[in-house]
Amino acid sequence: MATATQAVRLDEKVTQFVSKPRKMLINGKWVESASGKTFPSYNPATGEILAHVAEGDREDINRAVAAARAAFDSGPWSKMTPSERGRLIWKLADLIEKHSEAFAGLESLDNGKPLAIARVADVPGAVDMFRYMAGWATKIEGNTIPISMPGSKFLAYTLREPVGVVGQIIPWNFPLLMASWKLGPALAAGCTVVLKPAEQTPLSALLLGELVQEAGIPDGVVNIVPGYGETAGAALASHPDVDKIAFTGSTEVGKLIVQAAAGNLKKVSLELGGKSPNVVFQDADLNASIAGASLGIFFNHGQCCCAGSRLYVEEKAFDEVVEGVAAEASKIRLGPGVEPTTDMGPLVSEEQLNRVCGYLESGLAEGAKAVAGGGRHGDKGYFVKPTVLVNTHEKMKVVREEIFGPVVTAIPFRDLDDLVSKANGTVYGLASGVWTRDIAKAHHVASRLRAGTVWINCYNVFDSALPFGGYKQSGWGREMGHEVLELYTEVKSVCLPIS
Ligand code: NAP
Ligand code: MG
Repeated sequence: MATATQAVRLDEKVTQFVSKPRKMLINGKWVESASGKTFPSYNPATGEILAHVAEGDREDINRAVAAARAAFDSGPWSKMTPSERGRLIWKLADLIEKHSEAFAGLESLDNGKPLAIARVADVPGAVDMFRYMAGWATKIEGNTIPISMPGSKFLAYTLREPVGVVGQIIPWNFPLLMASWKLGPALAAGCTVVLKPAEQTPLSALLLGELVQEAGIPDGVVNIVPGYGETAGAALASHPDVDKIAFTGSTEVGKLIVQAAAGNLKKVSLELGGKSPNVVFQDADLNASIAGASLGIFFNHGQCCCAGSRLYVEEKAFDEVVEGVAAEASKIRLGPGVEPTTDMGPLVSEEQLNRVCGYLESGLAEGAKAVAGGGRHGDKGYFVKPTVLVNTHEKMKVVREEIFGPVVTAIPFRDLDDLVSKANGTVYGLASGVWTRDIAKAHHVASRLRAGTVWINCYNVFDSALPFGGYKQSGWGREMGHEVLELYTEVKSVCLPIS
């Protein structure tokens, strides 16, 4: 296996970026942490240290929030026209595009994902999100409201104003993309931000910080403080001067965020875990559904909140579909993300490796059978074989809990009611897939699934314009589309008698 230093075809900027300890961005300056501490970010393909990064803690969060507060309350950001704001966000998108190769290389080394995936999904997705949101900066409008109070005539209208200082905490599965989903709408709305990237993958957010400055976004508008969740993250979520917290990550930590936010009742939006059902009816194009089921679970090594981790197949088609998905799984070539032959890289960390392998052991001990994969691959790096489990049922942990790895459980269903009850039988409600040639059945099932997204005869289709978020314990609020602007604005009603 190649190591980071043997990596080929990586942008020069990548080697340069990881060659020295990275600082944090506070008030337009790159600074050390107040404690002087750093923490390592690892290359998960080798387990070796990739770079050292300043370790933010409460004091750094305090400095960053103060900078964001000043930039919001009295800085040039609030006085800028929406058109000027939009232009700067668009410029940031152009700069990310210019440095696409550097971002793809950093993402692949830090997270483990194949370079090819970072090139076609993460980086262009982030560019598109900033461009889409740049357009919204000039289109955040209120309404005029008819008033029925007798006696006078009133003029009443609403304004949509930025919510203020926003804390944003993001995960490691799509580091740059998640930063763009958070920063794009916050900047379009006119907010200022303190962003905490995940400890496992802080690098691309720090490169993004350099481009934020190059784009000319004023000092203090975007502050980036890497560090651990329990320290920097918790300090941000509980900070009394933060008006809103936006979080993506586990449902468990999402609940801690809600508690931490209670102190000053800051606004909260959450994009949390999932255990999404991918449903195949026997009348579907089975080849397409096999490809879709594989993509649904194995894309990004199953480290997607929307991963189609529960495959439900109508009884008569069960064997054919499961055999097909197992065959797809065994074709997947595992290796370091930066090698051109790699289809699937390592999981992000040793912790995730142990977590996913623990789930596999528990499932197999409870009687599940692996028809593909079933455990770790090799003994260096954090690789897990793409796995298809059968003989599973709804009481098993592997069926109930989010594994966040390349593991799918396949379960047959009898009829529509049986399917709907199984598919909805989870605390989550993020995404779902339906495969059938029967149009009416597809829409009928779509209407009965309790999930924020239903993909019909496709999976993992994302667009900056398409809202994404969860029912039930998969979250609060919707990201992307114009819906996300509601998360970053307050509505003000203004009313006056005019006769
Ligand atoms: P996580 O703990 O929820 O991490 C997500 C983010 O929250 C990271 O930036 C993390 O910081 C931060 N964080 C952790 N504890 C915090 C706290 N008490 N207060 C404020 N922020 C805090 O997720 P994880 O441990 O990386 O992964 C565990 C599981 O979460 C996965 O197996 C998966 O099931 C789920 N997950 C879901 C998503 C998703 O997109 N929905 C993404 C990632 C993980 P640090 O990483 O720096 O500690
Ligand atoms: Mg790393």
